[in-house]
Amino acid sequence: MTGRRSCPICGEIYNVYFRPAKVDNQCDRHPEARLTQRADDTQEKVRVRLETYKRETAPLLDYYQRTGRLQRVDGTRSPEEIYSDIEEILNNEVVRTELGESTNAD
Ligand SMILES: [Zn+2]
Repeated sequence: MTGRRSCPICGEIYNVYFRPAKVDNQCDRHPEARLTQRADDTQEKVRVRLETYKRETAPLLDYYQRTGRLQRVDGTRSPEEIYSDIEEILNNEVVRTELGESTNAD
């Protein structure tokens, strides 16, 4: 997260590790602009965000795991693939809920 940089003119996102600009710290399309780093992408802010995750979000994983409702989605793929996975999970959830209700009615 600390590698992310963006162009203040066009908003293009670069990453010093995974998608560096052609010239260091300079937008490929706007050489006059210096790339900026989001305030919450600094190392200290990232550390705090990870701690918050561990304290407040991670316990939810245990809870949903225990109650058999945890669904995992691989977040390293394209937004379209991730969206499609989530959509499928939600659709299955709706079908399951509807089936559950009709069974209860019988
Ligand atoms: Zn730009």
